[in-house]
Amino acid sequence: MSNVRMSLRSFSRAALMLGFALGLTFAGTMAAQEPASAPIVLHAARLLQIDAGTLLRPGEILVQGDRIRAVATLVDHPQGAKIIDLGDATLLPGLIDAHVHLFLHPGAEDLQTVQESVPWRTLLAAEAAKADLLAGYTAERDMGTEGAGSADTAVRDAINQGFIPGPRLRISGNAIDLLGGHEDAIGFNPAQRVLSNADYANSADQLVEVIRAQHKEGSDFAKIYETGPDTLIDGVLHTPYQYTEAQLAAAVNEAGRLGTRVAVHAMGEPGTLYAAQAGVASIDHATQLSDETMRLMREKHIPAVPTFAIFEYFARNRNTATEAAREGALLDYKIREFKRQVSAGIPFAVGSDVGPFPHGTQAVELELMVRYGMKPLAVLQADMINGAKLLGWEGQIGELKPGYFADVIAVPGNPLDDITVVERVSFVMKGGKVVRP
Ligand SMILES: [Zn+2]
Repeated sequence: MSNVRMSLRSFSRAALMLGFALGLTFAGTMAAQEPASAPIVLHAARLLQIDAGTLLRPGEILVQGDRIRAVATLVDHPQGAKIIDLGDATLLPGLIDAHVHLFLHPGAEDLQTVQESVPWRTLLAAEAAKADLLAGYTAERDMGTEGAGSADTAVRDAINQGFIPGPRLRISGNAIDLLGGHEDAIGFNPAQRVLSNADYANSADQLVEVIRAQHKEGSDFAKIYETGPDTLIDGVLHTPYQYTEAQLAAAVNEAGRLGTRVAVHAMGEPGTLYAAQAGVASIDHATQLSDETMRLMREKHIPAVPTFAIFEYFARNRNTATEAAREGALLDYKIREFKRQVSAGIPFAVGSDVGPFPHGTQAVELELMVRYGMKPLAVLQADMINGAKLLGWEGQIGELKPGYFADVIAVPGNPLDDITVVERVSFVMKGGKVVRP
């Protein structure tokens, strides 16, 4: 009897292992063992060389495997190459969004994270990743799942293994916040114990511990809420800081030990100064920056990520006139400060904070940065060159150069004359694969 039971058990274990083996082989076939594809030549009326700001007319890119092999007015056309003629379009590197929330959708500012399960939100996040990719975003930094913990590791890994379409991703898991801080679930019946959207850390030691835990769960970097909530008093932004410079420095050191970085949500002083002093990777929102903060950002090459798109969206989509007026005033203040920041020559990266507004529509961020004071080429360089650095893919993405990943988009018209063409992407290639013909 017992022998039979034993052998049955061994049999099921063997069957299970065989199943795993078959499953893995199947996965391997799907993701990694596709036949080597023929070289591709992309041809268009124009090609923008982002670093120099020069247009090739026409422009061609030779793509082999997942990489760019050559870029010129006319490249070699190897035998058997597939020629894709994109006509009267401009070839650009894939767009980079340095501030997204794949786990948020319109309505996020309300009760989404309370009412929706993490599995449901993960499925929606996969859809969001696809929408962003089809809009031309081939790389993104996900700035917090807002209560879905490390579920973004699944989305990133599924994209990397070729199971679902989406941009290259750097992810943070949950953001990190103080007890009772900016993103804690305040305003509910305390007896209901509504969960925070972020992971708590109330000291330097706890910051280190949370960063280690998130790293264990697969994060690529840490996102910390450094300021909030925000109020305008007599037309000037006031926002309390959350962590001291020393606490942020401890977080930056620990992230550095793990080979990762810290990005902060920081709207104003003195939180923005503490973040710059501590040497964070980027200051996101960055509505109010003192002269000293801007000096440090120039010196340490810390980009501001203005996220105008979310401010615009909130200013236009409020339920009451009072709320709309408040958001409008905040946006006006931000525009004035942005002009100061542009004159001060601080570095920028481009991030939209998409999620609360529909995924795939965030290229409006580039239009807004131009409208409020930057030149189109400077915005494209901030997006692509500074974005690639910020995401840790410098020399890999963000430019059309031999050896780089073949992340290429086509837009109608010339983005140097009209930046809004990036909102009408007509072709997307990521890693040498056409994802939007
Ligand atoms: Zn955000």
